[in-house]
Amino acid sequence: MLVPDQKIDLSILEEKGVTLYIKREDTIHPHISGNKYRKLKYNLLEAEQQGHTTLLTFGGAFSNHIAATACAGKEKGFETIGIIRGEELKDSWQENPTLRLARDHGMEFHFVSRSDYRKKNEKYFLDGLNDAFGKFYILPEGGTNTLAVKGCEEILTEADVKFDFICSCVGTGGTVSGLTNSAKAHQTVWGFPALKGDFLKEDIRKFARNENWDLISDYHFGGYAKVDASLINFINTFKKETGIPLDPVYTGKMLFGIFDLIKKDTFKKGAQILAIHTGGLQGIEGMNLALKKRNLPLLDV
Ligand SMILES: *Cc1c(COP(=O)(O)O)cnc(C)c1O
Repeated sequence: MLVPDQKIDLSILEEKGVTLYIKREDTIHPHISGNKYRKLKYNLLEAEQQGHTTLLTFGGAFSNHIAATACAGKEKGFETIGIIRGEELKDSWQENPTLRLARDHGMEFHFVSRSDYRKKNEKYFLDGLNDAFGKFYILPEGGTNTLAVKGCEEILTEADVKFDFICSCVGTGGTVSGLTNSAKAHQTVWGFPALKGDFLKEDIRKFARNENWDLISDYHFGGYAKVDASLINFINTFKKETGIPLDPVYTGKMLFGIFDLIKKDTFKKGAQILAIHTGGLQGIEGMNLALKKRNLPLLDV
């Protein structure tokens, strides 16, 4: 899968003497977020080899991973089951664009309360799912496991050796682990968490074989899927100036952070930066519905 690195031409970059490219993983598929495509690739091959016909996974109502699993499952001929956080969605899921998309691609939903959802990795909970749904291949929440990290190791190519910094968003840390494993010794991988939490470093250490990475934790905007007007305005301006759409949960926060760091002269003159556009654009419609309710500016589409 060859994905273009797109050069960004903005006056601030010239002024500060740094180069910024964006790897357009968002162009891989209209509904399957770029990094979710990478994370599913080897898992779906494994599921097929093990003779499975059903995929089961977990996620919230706006999850890119839920949308991706439904679409990839349909393309590869799997039945898909989504264990969705939030019992109250049972009667209102049709109002949620992500869940509508997943259902249009054949996903069957099982809505669980938030407290049950927290028990999703416990044996008795999984036994209950087996009783209800029979045999299935399980994908963890967010899709991160060893095979997912292996898929993410294919994001960087030989042509990317020229970069000094590789930047990516962090949810569960699978993507940044894969990038770290395939980055060269002279490269630094910076992960921008989209949520608050000190557990992320521990999670990344489970999968990352190198030490050439760090987390930049100043740009989560208060937590997962939390946004404010300054972030929305940044995303809309960036799209106007570069033509590149960003999502509000992951890539918008990372690029907001990268430009803030550039303004603060964090990168040395001459630095070559590659930012991974991991996708997530399917979430914009749902976010705009939420923004409208809160009287915040909307994301341009
Ligand atoms: C899931 C997701 C991430 C986070 O990836 P992890 O491997 O869980 O860290 C980043 N960006 C987008 C667009 C995503 O959908």
